[in-house]
Amino acid sequence: MDEQRNAVTTIDQGRMKAVRERVLSGFHDVDTGSDELVGVLRRVLAGESFSVSDLRRIGQPILYVSDGFQALTGFRREEAVGRDLGFLMRADTDQDEVRAVREAVREGRAATALVRCYRRDGSLFWNEQRHYPVKDTRGRVAHLVVVQRDVTELVHARSAHEVARQLASSLGGEGAFFSYGAILDAAGSTTIGWAHEGVAAVLGHTPAELHGRELIELIAPEDRETARARLLALRDEGGSRRDRYRMLTAAGRVRWVEDFASVSWSAKEAGLVAIHGVVRDVSAERLKRLEVGEVDALTGLPTDRVLDDRLDQAIRQARRYGGVAGLVVLELDHFDFVHQTMDPRRGERLLREAARRLQRALRRSDTLALLRDGCFAVVLPDLGDAEAAVPVVEKLLAWVAQPFEDGTLRVELSASAGVALAPTDARRTDVLRERAESALQRARMAGGSRFAFADVALDQAAEQRLAFERDLRRAFTDDQLVLHYQPRVRLADASARGVEALVRWRHPERGLLLPDEFLPGLYRARMGETLFEWVLEHAVEQAAAWREHGDARRVSVNVGPELLERNDFGEVVRAALERWQLHPGLLELELHEQTGMQALERGFDQLLAVRRHGVTVALDDFGIAATNFAQLRALPVDTLKIDRSFVARVGEGADPSDVELLRAMVGIGHGLGLTVVAEGIETAAQRASVAAMAVDEGQGFLFSHAVPADMVGAVVAAPAGALRASAISVRPRPVFVP
Ligand code: C2E
Ligand code: CA
Ligand code: CA
Repeated sequence: MDEQRNAVTTIDQGRMKAVRERVLSGFHDVDTGSDELVGVLRRVLAGESFSVSDLRRIGQPILYVSDGFQALTGFRREEAVGRDLGFLMRADTDQDEVRAVREAVREGRAATALVRCYRRDGSLFWNEQRHYPVKDTRGRVAHLVVVQRDVTELVHARSAHEVARQLASSLGGEGAFFSYGAILDAAGSTTIGWAHEGVAAVLGHTPAELHGRELIELIAPEDRETARARLLALRDEGGSRRDRYRMLTAAGRVRWVEDFASVSWSAKEAGLVAIHGVVRDVSAERLKRLEVGEVDALTGLPTDRVLDDRLDQAIRQARRYGGVAGLVVLELDHFDFVHQTMDPRRGERLLREAARRLQRALRRSDTLALLRDGCFAVVLPDLGDAEAAVPVVEKLLAWVAQPFEDGTLRVELSASAGVALAPTDARRTDVLRERAESALQRARMAGGSRFAFADVALDQAAEQRLAFERDLRRAFTDDQLVLHYQPRVRLADASARGVEALVRWRHPERGLLLPDEFLPGLYRARMGETLFEWVLEHAVEQAAAWREHGDARRVSVNVGPELLERNDFGEVVRAALERWQLHPGLLELELHEQTGMQALERGFDQLLAVRRHGVTVALDDFGIAATNFAQLRALPVDTLKIDRSFVARVGEGADPSDVELLRAMVGIGHGLGLTVVAEGIETAAQRASVAAMAVDEGQGFLFSHAVPADMVGAVVAAPAGALRASAISVRPRPVFVP
């Protein structure tokens, strides 16, 4: 982003490079002491950013950094010397690349790496590092000289240029456009880092005028909110987006543009995301039809929003005149696969071609809309009867099945469709859509390349589901959810170690519902994140209230699988703790065993970060999913909760092999230094049995059911005063990083 600095380092590069490489390779047969080496380098590489490390010493410490290095990174010489050069690098640096460079250096070959680095002030830059190993007289690699260059702008310009090129060709190349880079931060600012000259033609600004300004301020006030939401989504979800909105020119006039923006890099730790975008002036196009959001920019088809309107009209009309209206949801089979493997331009062409064919198979009064990538909806407003839909749908599928010829490529696709009819299948747009979608799912499940009608049984299920989801949303807004707490007890002295928060639903008609009765539906409705946030907030608040009253208890919160997907998980947890001023050691997260294993692939960093913060992690229902020892070892957990099905088999009259199995599981947990908890202890015999295996803690009906928060104190104090709340430990176990 600092143009001056880039300008300096790019001067007469070819010549510099040749000189440098000759001099550097000259060291191969000189026995150079560190001081001499630095002395020579200071002359040869005057003005450049470089560092010299000693590879013979443990930790490969930096011996010297140049003035240029200090200027580039902001680190002073005394701050850098003695450290490994890796201290500049982001944690997510491509490890394969690092390994390849290390390997080359070990073998005495020069190598170049492109890595993202931090400056002292926390800002990031793309660093082109040229590594030059320097050998001593005995041919051993003794020193490493690394010449650094800030290529941030180059990197951005290159990718932005690539996008611009693709975009221009995919859209026919008409209209002025410019590319830009912007930094989005956690607080919502949208600072423009650079913009290319094309901006003059579109907005009448010079690139320099835009440098440092808020992107959002260049957008016309009426579109700002949508644009902001879209940028936030880009910041939080990554990927890329194409949107249309109005921008203001330097002269204050409004221009319609299409902005194709994608994330170029993100620094989660610093809360920064850089995007690059290509803004194309589309004012000249037929904007009346292309109202933002109503028409898909790529296919020219109406979108979701318009669809509901037309569908509503069609349903009304059918009811009024006693006819039948049809909704067809048609999806290209395996489109995800095609889309991922194909050059994006080709993918877009294919989608456009599919849209064109479908349109041709329809009548003028029918509406074809785009639901999502690779998925279309068709409203058939005046079918004489249900049967009349069949030939239309068959025609649609047949058209799609024709091979697509695209230059050298021939693609054969198929599609599946679901058909729902009004008023027989449903009388409301949302239900009708749900029904067409589930019919589509059945067609796909049956192997694809076919269509299915929604039937009565399915209709009922869909309606029930919709009703359930409506109720569920109301449960959150009307405070129908409640947390009960079940104590966890240390078996050695019966002291209470904490409580597990378990959610219940006070359903207005069905009474108190247990999780098993509503969690599956809740997850199906994709409300898992909402639940977690609700539970976390209330559990942390409760823990803070208890601590306030002098009885600090650790609260365990169950984490569902969907949380592996969200990348602000750690942030959500930290924020809740901060809001209620709760010590992280008073919070534990319980991960179902299956979720834990998935965390090895995704969400691992989130888990690690939460745990570093001091929150403990327990692996729930251990034993069910058959986690192997290696996986268990790799998981960042503190506690193992053995599933109650194993505990149920021990106690009075137990089969010795069941006892041995449980003992082995306890041994595994202890072998890894974990706290072992037995769940579902119901009888004194079970308690005695697990206590004899040196299980650390227990939970179960023998001690207490899950009870409302205000009863926890009484329950915990109850059995002969044996349970003491004061014995809880708030010291998190040391972090184990595999
Ligand atoms: P879990 O995490 O294994 O929770 C323990 C369950 O075992 C609780 O059932 C608890 O009431 C029950 N239990 C405790 N002691 C005994 C015992 O001695 N015998 C028997 N038979 N059962 C005992 P609950 O409350 O019905 O919860 C069921 C499951 O629902 C939980 O299993 C957990 O997976 C899930 N769940 C509960 N609350 C939440 C929540 O807030 N978020 C998420 N994501 N899941 C939750
Ligand atoms: Ca649990
Ligand atoms: Ca459990």
